[in-house]
Amino acid sequence: MEKVIIIGTGPAGLTAAVYAARANLDPLVIEGFQPGGQLITTSDVENYPGFPEGISGAELMDLTRKQAERFGARFKAGEVAAAGLTCRPMSLTLSDGEKIEAQTIIVATGASAQYIGLESEQKLIGRGVSGCATCDGAFYRDVPVAVVGGGDTAMEDALFLTHFASKITVIHRRNQFRASQIMAERVIAHPKIEVLWDSVIDEVLGVEKNEVTGLKVRNVKTNEVSELAVTGLFVAIGHKPNTGPFAGQLDTDHTGYLIAKNTRTNIDGVFAAGDVQDSVYRQAITAAGSGCAAAIEAERYLEAQQ
Ligand code: NAP
Repeated sequence: MEKVIIIGTGPAGLTAAVYAARANLDPLVIEGFQPGGQLITTSDVENYPGFPEGISGAELMDLTRKQAERFGARFKAGEVAAAGLTCRPMSLTLSDGEKIEAQTIIVATGASAQYIGLESEQKLIGRGVSGCATCDGAFYRDVPVAVVGGGDTAMEDALFLTHFASKITVIHRRNQFRASQIMAERVIAHPKIEVLWDSVIDEVLGVEKNEVTGLKVRNVKTNEVSELAVTGLFVAIGHKPNTGPFAGQLDTDHTGYLIAKNTRTNIDGVFAAGDVQDSVYRQAITAAGSGCAAAIEAERYLEAQQ
C-alpha cells in the first residue's frame, strides 16, 4: 500500500511531490491526462517568482518534476478512473484497470478552461487562443485582442488586458452580462473596451498561418457575419474543475470546486491542492503553495495514525 498518492502533475501536484518525497513518504504521482497541467499550454510564465527572465510553462514543470524525482518521487502514466475514498484502505482505479491502495491521497487534478469547441479554436490554443489572460496577457502589447464571455472572469480578463492591448473587444452571446454589476459597468465604461452584444464566434481565423489573425463573428439576432482583426482571443467562458472520479464522495461548492480547509477535504486522509479547489486565484504559484500545504498535512495525518 502507498503512503501517499498524488493525482496530477501541475504545479500543485509536483510541489506536493517535492515536499512528500523530501519527507521520506515515497510518494507515487499519477500523471493525469495532461502531464504538466494547464501550464503546458502557456508559452511563457513571467510571474512565477525566481525566474526574472520568465520561463516556459513546460520547462517550469519539467524542472519541478526533476526536483521531485531527485528526492525519490515515483511517477506513473495514467488517469484515475474511479476512487474508493470512504473505505479503508482507500483505493484508486486507473483507466487501464490497475487498482492501487493508499493511506493518503492528494487530489491535484486541476481545472480545465472551457473552450467554445470550434475546430479552428482548438488548433490555435497556445498560438493566440488562450484560456488565461493573467498568464498570457502581457504578450499582447499594443495589439487588438478579443475576450469571449460575459461573466466575472471575462470582465476581469478584459480589464486586465487594458494594461497591454491596444483595444479589447468583448464578445458576448446575449445582450446582458452575467457578471456582477460593478465589473460590468467598469468594462462598459472603459475607453479601450468595446462590447459586441448578441454575438458568437463562428471561426478563429489564422489556422493556415498557425497564429490568430482574426475572428469570424456572427450576430445571433441578425445573422450578420463580420470579421474582426485580432491577434489574441481570450476564452473566458468558465472553468471546470476535474473532479469526475470523486463525485459523491468529496464535497464541492455550488460551482463544482472541491471544498478544502487548509487542504483537508471532508474525508480524512484526502487532501486537495491547486485549481481543483481554487476558483479565485488560479495561479501557478498559489497552486504550488497549496501543493506544499497538502503534503505537510498528509505527513501530519500519517504521523498521527502511528
Ligand atoms: P460564469 O459566471 O459561468 O460565466 C461564463 C460566461 O461565459 C457567461 O456569460 C456565459 O454566457 C458565457 N458562456 C458560457 N458558455 C459559452 C459558450 N459556449 N459560448 C459563449 N459564451 C459562453 O464563469 P466565470 O466568469 O468564469 O465565473 C465563475 C465564477 O467565479 C462566478 O461565480 C464568478 O462570479 C466567479 N468569479 C468571481 C470573480 C471576482 O469576484 N473577482 C472573478 C472571476 C470569477 P451566459 O451569460 O449567456 O450564460
